[in-house]
Amino acid sequence: MPRKMTRANAALLFERLSKVRPEPTTELNYKNSYTLLVAVALSAQATDEGVNRATGPLFAIADTPEKMVSLGEKKLGDFVKTIGLWRNKAKNVIALSKMLIEEHGGEVPHDREALEKLPGVGRKTANVVLNVAFGEPTIAVDTHIFRVSNRTGLAPGKNPLEVELALEKATPEDYLLHAHHWLILHGRYVCKARTPECWRCVISDICGFKDKVLEPKTAKKAPAKKVAGKLKTAKPQKKATRKAGKTKKATR
Ligand code: SF4
Repeated sequence: MPRKMTRANAALLFERLSKVRPEPTTELNYKNSYTLLVAVALSAQATDEGVNRATGPLFAIADTPEKMVSLGEKKLGDFVKTIGLWRNKAKNVIALSKMLIEEHGGEVPHDREALEKLPGVGRKTANVVLNVAFGEPTIAVDTHIFRVSNRTGLAPGKNPLEVELALEKATPEDYLLHAHHWLILHGRYVCKARTPECWRCVISDICGFKDKVLEPKTAKKAPAKKVAGKLKTAKPQKKATRKAGKTKKATR
């Protein structure tokens, strides 16, 4: 695990990420706080792109809890069946819509405890809704934020909650509101899981990751052949074929 980043470098990290994306926002499409809640609930273990493809036509006809309940679980399933775990998610969306109608007058509550009581809504979903819909400085730790926080040393932790609490301490107040999106987008597009693109990363000099990838990977060269004790690079296919033809003639 890298050494914990200093406060000065944490401030520098956010200053630089904020310059790259001055107006960061969620990449999930939504029309109101209810559709945001549904989109986030559908997005667990799925890409935002995949969720947006499904919710475009869905939200065109069901953008309130009442319309979603009228649509029903079966028809909702037809819209979202391209999304992983869709059966369970469809069941939860109908159940949470009913609960919103029965207990919150059809509105999404501006309250963590109430949000987390909704079926299928955990701490991460509640944090996204509180942040995006209500402007709370919450940080929802997803796989990207978890990776970036640990690799850089910004907020190391063994699980999402540890990272979330560490991020709350490490993030300068001025950056708390958008920290969530800066870190997600940095993880999604630059500090990628398999090959972090450190060669074009704006925080490379202050990042504590030991195995930085400082050059893009190039295409593989032809395998080298061992000829008479020394390595010889394989010849291009065309030449090799011509040579083979010549040898055949000579032996005739
Ligand atoms: S330097 Fe590399 S590992 Fe560190 S944040 Fe940038 S992309 Fe990620």
